Amino acid sequence: MRLTEADKQSYFALHACCIPVKGMTRSIMYDLNRKDYQYIPNAMTDLLHANKHRTIAELLNDVGEADKETAVEYFEFLLEHEFIFLCPRNDLNRFPPISHRFETPSLITNAVVDLSLASAYDPESVFIQLAELGCRDIQIRTFDACELLFYSRLLDSAQEKGFKSIELLACYHPSLLPDKLIRFVNQYKFTAFILVHGAPFKRRIQDAVYEMHLIQFEPVQLEHGKAYRQTDCSYFSISPKILAEAMNHHLYFNRKVAIDHLGFVKNAESCTGHFGNVTTHLLKEIVEQTDFQRIWSARKDDTRVCKDCEYRYMCVDNRPIFWDEHNACWAHHEPCRYDPSRALWQHAGP
Ligand code: SF4
Repeated sequence: MRLTEADKQSYFALHACCIPVKGMTRSIMYDLNRKDYQYIPNAMTDLLHANKHRTIAELLNDVGEADKETAVEYFEFLLEHEFIFLCPRNDLNRFPPISHRFETPSLITNAVVDLSLASAYDPESVFIQLAELGCRDIQIRTFDACELLFYSRLLDSAQEKGFKSIELLACYHPSLLPDKLIRFVNQYKFTAFILVHGAPFKRRIQDAVYEMHLIQFEPVQLEHGKAYRQTDCSYFSISPKILAEAMNHHLYFNRKVAIDHLGFVKNAESCTGHFGNVTTHLLKEIVEQTDFQRIWSARKDDTRVCKDCEYRYMCVDNRPIFWDEHNACWAHHEPCRYDPSRALWQHAGP
């Protein structure tokens, strides 16, 4: 779209749902309503922040001759993508920003529950306690071959407790056949995804209606103490709620609990330390500990490397994190595959 002379006499404002986030080498415009994003140059973000109460013409007058054409192109791009709108001066204060406060009634929102033949705790008791804490999403992981009947009994004990979704990461057993798992998913409607790990073959089955990836057979064996997913651009997520949570907390660890196969309670499946055991303590007593909750507020804005990354309010990063006393910031032992200083992914990225 071309900027007209009349457009240049107007003031401009960012739509409240469009948030430019600056990284070390480039920015991203978070389009919260469309749940989408666009890469933009850092200079465009600076232009938006520094010139809130000036007409486009006033702004262009102050830009050097060499940069004028670029500035015009920036405005044309911002208007074309509906990131900004033109308005009279009097309207500028009529569009307050969206609040980025994060609130949830749940003490725990999501949980990882590990089970093996060595498990001495009652999963149903854990499900009841998780439901009382407000938990909505659960990932159940098994490390020993169990028949399908075992999973039916397990999910029977999780039914009608208010859980929104259950992901099942099941160790391969010959009874876990694709057609039986499709029937299983139809019976237990809250099953969002099934991974059969350690399978002798690779196969993906999509949901027929929503074309979502639903059941997956994977030869790789899941390991105790390790997360199934790696930090990756496919786990980026954009919404007003996610942005607010990321601005105030850690998107992966906040209000999460993991119960390992021996009943030890951790912040996440890949964390080494534990805070108690469900065979001796109530889950509520454990997750209410200040030390347990400390990691919840590990914001990306306070984390080495991530604080300079333009993905920081959409990135669900499950790498273990620690407080670096010397540098007074959060940090990771394991590097991310994305380097914000070069805007490059180690392997294929967006
Ligand atoms: S550096 Fe990596 S982990 Fe950190 S916010 Fe960026 S993509 Fe996420």
